[in-house]
Amino acid sequence: MKILVLNAGSSTQKSCLYDLSDDAAPDMPATPVWEGLIDWTHQGEAAEIRVETAGGKTLKKLVPTDDRAKVIADLLYTLCQGDTRVIDSFAAIDLVGHRVVHGGAEYRECTRITPAVKEAIARLAVFAPVHNPVNLEGIEAIERILGDVPQFAVFDTAFHHTLPATAYVYPGPYDWLEQGIRRYGFHGISHQYVSQRAAQLLGQPLTSLRLITCHLGNGCSVTAVHEGRSVETSMGFTPLEGLMMGSRSGSIDPGILIHLLRQGHTPDDLDRVLNQESGLKGISGLSNDMRHIHAAIAAGNERAALAFDLFIHRLQTAVSGMLPSLGGLDVLVFTAGIGENDPLVWSGLCRGFEFLGLKLDPDRLQRSPDDQEISAPDSRVRVLVIHTHEDWAIAQTCLRLYSTSQRQ
Ligand code: AMP
Repeated sequence: MKILVLNAGSSTQKSCLYDLSDDAAPDMPATPVWEGLIDWTHQGEAAEIRVETAGGKTLKKLVPTDDRAKVIADLLYTLCQGDTRVIDSFAAIDLVGHRVVHGGAEYRECTRITPAVKEAIARLAVFAPVHNPVNLEGIEAIERILGDVPQFAVFDTAFHHTLPATAYVYPGPYDWLEQGIRRYGFHGISHQYVSQRAAQLLGQPLTSLRLITCHLGNGCSVTAVHEGRSVETSMGFTPLEGLMMGSRSGSIDPGILIHLLRQGHTPDDLDRVLNQESGLKGISGLSNDMRHIHAAIAAGNERAALAFDLFIHRLQTAVSGMLPSLGGLDVLVFTAGIGENDPLVWSGLCRGFEFLGLKLDPDRLQRSPDDQEISAPDSRVRVLVIHTHEDWAIAQTCLRLYSTSQRQ
């Protein structure tokens, strides 16, 4: 089965082609036969396309247009043309899976895309104005280029549909809830994948474990997973709530926004400040990238040190706030760009939880290309670093749904 996955963000669009018939160990993430990336952040009216195949062929080119549909088409044609060709024609693609950021309260699992589902993704763009429109753009590009290949939406909110009301209702007026203003949670594909992978690594059923999964990348969120279900998560109505992030503030006193609005700032100003000029970048004044923060701390930069300490403090506060909903903690998981690579974040967070009997093994605190355990043998909480594979998880989910529908 050849499954194409599209994972569109605000500034990049990642795509992968998996050939699952070549996958000898289906429980382990397979390497895609083709990976493509569109980077829309270039100055001027151009996008950069980068392609890499499992066979070692690469392509990098600038497409001089701001016509996004044309750029997506150019990327997809590298699947079956030129040096990076891995299939004879688009007809070889069996399924297409899309990461769709917001599925609202109604989409609780992977769904085959129909006109009604497209209409819902468009409608839910009021809650995810940056992401849902680009997800829809990818779906429509596939319709134009690949015709009526089965397409599926895997929603980043879906894993959190099991949140109890106490976790998803905001204590504002009740009619907020009726308007859909509630907590949804995000990064669900990643939190679900790493919790399943943790159970697999530990050789224990997921349903027997109490986990907290820390997805720490450009966007950051933590989720409490009990009996395989999300029971609490740090992102809310939008991906702005919760932890301090690369350039997002995370949770702040909403009174600050009222104050700034009264001072004459517009909603667009606040949107920009909270999403692009806050977090590590806002406090350090330097960068949203944790690697740059460490380099600046090493050079004696005090604001960078404050940014790092705040990041850890906010993370500890969020993780500790989840302990009551789990009634304890068996496993702590780190994932995504910072979570997979940063021993100072591992030790910084874990230092606050030694009272739980959590102990890291100093000899294991090294970055590794493999999933790894970093807790000491006598730690009462197992601590794992797991590489997230959202695209692989999307491919697997679509395949499962498709196979089930074919059997019915
Ligand atoms: P992601 O959104 O998962 O791709 O994560 C991207 C972020 O991961 C970057 O902005 C960096 O802050 C962080 N990152 C990547 N590599 C490292 C590293 N070696 N050490 C610390 N942070 C890293």
